[in-house]
Amino acid sequence: MGTTFMNNELNLYKRILNKLPDLNIKLAEPVKNHAYTKLGGNADVFITPNKYDEISTVYKIAKEENVPVTLLGHGSNLIVKDGGLRGITMHLKNLNEVRTENSTIIAQAGASIIDVSRQALEQHLSGLEFACGIPGTVGGALYMNAGAYGGQISDVLVKALVMNEAGELLTLSSEDLSLSYRKSNISANKYVVLEAVFNLKQAEYADIKEKMDEFTFARESKQPLEYPSCGSVFKRPPGYFAGKLIQDSGLQGKRIGGAEVSTKHAGFIVNVDHATSQDYIDLIEVIKTTVKQNFGIDLETEVIVIGEDNQN
Ligand code: FAD
Repeated sequence: MGTTFMNNELNLYKRILNKLPDLNIKLAEPVKNHAYTKLGGNADVFITPNKYDEISTVYKIAKEENVPVTLLGHGSNLIVKDGGLRGITMHLKNLNEVRTENSTIIAQAGASIIDVSRQALEQHLSGLEFACGIPGTVGGALYMNAGAYGGQISDVLVKALVMNEAGELLTLSSEDLSLSYRKSNISANKYVVLEAVFNLKQAEYADIKEKMDEFTFARESKQPLEYPSCGSVFKRPPGYFAGKLIQDSGLQGKRIGGAEVSTKHAGFIVNVDHATSQDYIDLIEVIKTTVKQNFGIDLETEVIVIGEDNQN
């Protein structure tokens, strides 16, 4: 890391602290300490806001300083490269309130979607059973239109409170977010998701619990949950299953560094031994090339790769 670069980083840090003296802010924070994958280099300036106006102030400074802002949920669908993240990284984990009003659950973006589904169960509300094992935040779940076992966020989301780059708060309908298979327009519009409102249906506790237990059993028996991972690495190609194509290519157990194609579920790459992000990226390339050679199918990654390559 050059001296000029370190000075820039330090100046940015000081400028933010000057405006927001109570902000939780760190320099050169390892992303791997905050990501489900246990991967990722250092974030130059890492902040954990507690209030919405802290977010808008940080965006204002970022604009003036011309530095990017990266949002981090649980990092369960992200590979942050080993060279880390420049500019500001914002981790919304402290914005995690969840409340129920009649058949509606209002959840802040940093809340775990698993906790939200648990609150739904406790309140005898059905609709979020599919999310009971998805290890992301509400913000990440909206961004990805997360889904499983026949359900997805777009089935239950009524509206969301977002902040745009100008720091304005907007209330958007589910349609406004153009949710489709593992996709939304949140990235294209550079929205920060702050809150989501889910519309659920009253149901019997036992029925909701039975569904959740069924999904949890299916997940635990099929997915390598004993290791850090980023979940399904690839999107489902039309008419196929990515995992089956990888399995039929004989790639299960294939290892690069500390990253391995799971022997339990071929669609997962697991971090078995202090993998680097580069190990993951190299293994993804091997999988794509092999599946293309064997079946003529181009696998598209579901996982998002961001950040800088390691300079060393
Ligand atoms: P991150 O990985 O932290 O971020 C993902 C993207 O969302 C990033 O671009 C980030 O910038 C953006 N983002 C995060 N928060 C905000 C915000 N507040 N505002 C705007 N943008 C934001 N996914 C499924 O869909 N179904 C599954 O069944 C499923 N199973 C999984 C099982 C395992 C074991 C693992 C590891 C992952 C699984 N996933 C699954 C993937 C992942 O959990 C989901 O995509 C989840 O929604 C990602 O949420 P996150 O908070 O971890 O987001």
